[in-house]
Amino acid sequence: MNIHSPSLRSGPDERGHFGQFGGRYVAETLMPLILDLETHYRAAQADPAFEAEFDDLLKNYVGRPSPLYFAESLTRHLAKLAADAGQPGNGAKIYLKRDELNHTGAHKINNCIGQILLAKRMGKTRIIAETGAGQHGVATATVAARFGLPCVIYMGSRDIERQAPNVFRMKLLGAEVRAVESGSKTLKDAMNEALRDWVTNVHDTFYIIGTAAGPHPYPELVRNFQSVIGREARAQILEAEGRLPDVLVAAIGGGSNAIGLFHPFLDDADVRMVGVEAAGHGLATGEHAASLIGGSPGVLHGNKTMLLQDDDGQITEAHSISAGLDYPGIGPEHAWLHAIGRVDYQSATDDDAMEAFKLLCKVEGIIPALEPAHAMAAVMRMAPAMAADRLIIANMCGRGDKDIFTVANVLGVKL
Ligand SMILES: *Cc1c(COP(=O)(O)O)cnc(C)c1O
Repeated sequence: MNIHSPSLRSGPDERGHFGQFGGRYVAETLMPLILDLETHYRAAQADPAFEAEFDDLLKNYVGRPSPLYFAESLTRHLAKLAADAGQPGNGAKIYLKRDELNHTGAHKINNCIGQILLAKRMGKTRIIAETGAGQHGVATATVAARFGLPCVIYMGSRDIERQAPNVFRMKLLGAEVRAVESGSKTLKDAMNEALRDWVTNVHDTFYIIGTAAGPHPYPELVRNFQSVIGREARAQILEAEGRLPDVLVAAIGGGSNAIGLFHPFLDDADVRMVGVEAAGHGLATGEHAASLIGGSPGVLHGNKTMLLQDDDGQITEAHSISAGLDYPGIGPEHAWLHAIGRVDYQSATDDDAMEAFKLLCKVEGIIPALEPAHAMAAVMRMAPAMAADRLIIANMCGRGDKDIFTVANVLGVKL
């Protein structure tokens, strides 16, 4: 590295800033907790035994490394579309990073393993978390069961109604699901409630945050735990193709799977990155979850980032067919990568995601979660126009079992 081009991977600074974003905007009562967490995290980072236990659990409990799969049939299908349309390109080669094959069916478990090891190291005996769609709640309840710790999951009462199967899963795993009745009764309110619990019960409680957001050091530590995705993908594509990919693509809710894939490649100037936000019913309708493309700077959940908010700074509700993407904020590192132009942030509507969902089922025999279906929609847009020797890696961050009711509903099928 030369001093004229500092690494894009070195952030955040010591106070948690990525450019103008990030930081720790928290009540005074929370400050000592966050500083204590940071001290223990730094010690864990320096301890080879911590990393060894993390790696062992990822391998033997989660099932890593996840394969990097050449989606030959999808590649051929999009190349044919390109040829039929008389496009200049003839279809890039598409690889899927198969994180949907992880235990519990998504990438969230990577982060939960890391954080519960940290909780154990800090001597905490009670786990709390927030959840929206219930995916992070399930992953947290899973690791809490594995480590024998009681676990409380905060969930908006509206989400509890909408996500009955995941609520049941969490209960089977031994977690207590606490309904949050404040605000819009969804994810952001659940996160506020979890932060409140943490302040009250800090002596014994560890708060496992589900995405690369929250006050410093959460965005950094979640990113580091999820970066296993990008490190594996990097080694796997070098092995398969002998070179780095041309484009990385990932869906963005809070941004943890995307930053996990992107971060190990940030200093590779020739690797283009595309983050795909949920455009819901369309950006123009206002009913979307595109915090970068359709939001403005503000403070939420202890960090400065890009938010969906009204003129008075009130957080507005996010909309997406995919419950995992409808967070009104985004991790601060993405807000910064957007501001400096390193990552290209695009969006895909509910309809785009459904088209990509159906295509992947049909041509690859993979039922994706609706979140990565947004990433696949972007792949379908860009691949046909690219040359056949270009390489795309898309993160298949979750499987679609959880979404079959939503999809059946859209297709007018009664289950
Ligand atoms: C939760 C979830 C997301 C969104 O979270 P990020 O932090 O943006 O990764 C995306 N995909 C799946 C499958 C999820 O469960």
